[in-house]
Amino acid sequence: MTTFRKFAYTYRMERLARRELTHGDGRRLFLYGANDGATLPQDAPGGAWPALHLRHDALRDRWVAISPARNTRPQTAPTAQTPSDETPPCPLCVGGPELPFPYEAAVFENRFPTLLASPPTPPTLEGATAPSRGRCEVVLYTPTHTGSLATLSAEELARVVAIWTDRSAELFAAPDLQAVLVFENRGEDVGATLSHPHGQIYALDHLPIHLRERVDAIAAHRDTTGTCLHCDIVATDADAPGRHLVDNPSFTVGVPFAPDWPYEVHVRARRHGARRLTDLTTAERRDLAAALRDVVHVYDQLFDTPMAYLMACHQAPRADAGPVDDWHLSFEFLPPNRGPDKLKVRATVETAAGLFINDTVPETSAAQLREVATRTAGVTHAPIPDVEVVPEGTTAPAGT
Ligand SMILES: [Zn+2]
Ligand SMILES: [Zn+2]
Repeated sequence: MTTFRKFAYTYRMERLARRELTHGDGRRLFLYGANDGATLPQDAPGGAWPALHLRHDALRDRWVAISPARNTRPQTAPTAQTPSDETPPCPLCVGGPELPFPYEAAVFENRFPTLLASPPTPPTLEGATAPSRGRCEVVLYTPTHTGSLATLSAEELARVVAIWTDRSAELFAAPDLQAVLVFENRGEDVGATLSHPHGQIYALDHLPIHLRERVDAIAAHRDTTGTCLHCDIVATDADAPGRHLVDNPSFTVGVPFAPDWPYEVHVRARRHGARRLTDLTTAERRDLAAALRDVVHVYDQLFDTPMAYLMACHQAPRADAGPVDDWHLSFEFLPPNRGPDKLKVRATVETAAGLFINDTVPETSAAQLREVATRTAGVTHAPIPDVEVVPEGTTAPAGT
């Protein structure tokens, strides 16, 4: 049995070992950190997804992913310790079907994919269709069943950022992929069926409409003003203390000027050129981890209960998708709450017309969030380390 070195320390740099395995059904699994050399059972049948395809909505000029396999995924929230007929065991805990052996952090290809590296040929229909090409991955932050970006240890949090960066590097290098969306759905209020701390990554072979809108917006801004739209937003937000949430040297953290959701918060890279996770310096990666921890911590204190949210990491698409030099990396949190026990419902005007109605004044929401941030500012955290992913077989420097 092989024991891999967990970390080797060099000037607070932790080297995070990465090992790639393959599930019996062909799905890739990346193990990060220490592992005991165990292998995956190889007797599972490969997934067959003949109905998976994209359909083009000509009226809105956008693609819709047809993915009936997802309808077979579980609805009941699993539990870690006490599975019963009503609460099945967590598939993400150690010993579950995804990770049958101990792990520290991991990424695996989704058992219920919407996009595949080798998608089936799309059906010939009365409208335009296309293959569902891309990747759908699940990112396990920790083997511990409960927790969040606010409660992970400093090492676990730094690992998560390093793992997102590592996966983004490979996915952006794939010639068939245009965009990489790192995201997290947290809480039953946004439909998350698994509470185990985890996120997902979708990599797409085309720009979905909201990313295309952003590319068009930065191009139009450059054409009219000659400046970077994101640099201008960073400057505007830095001058808007009424929407500011917490100080961070590398990122602005606050409620955006025109948010859809009452407690929406954006974390945006200040530096021009920080377009993707892979562009960040080690200091910026540490600052990003701290910013994400701060935001989720504030959310969870605001109503004294974990707040559900959608979290999207927007990275610059590949350059052949459009002019993306003016893109700045951002993490955008979209919680559905408009009060302690009240949810905003995305209704007809929002869904059919695209006009979002925010039930709050952004500066008022920001003041509430800032009050929590100020009240809890004395909480001290362990320093966030630098983490460098080291693929299996890479020789560690001498003395580490
Ligand atoms: Zn679990
Ligand atoms: Zn810029």
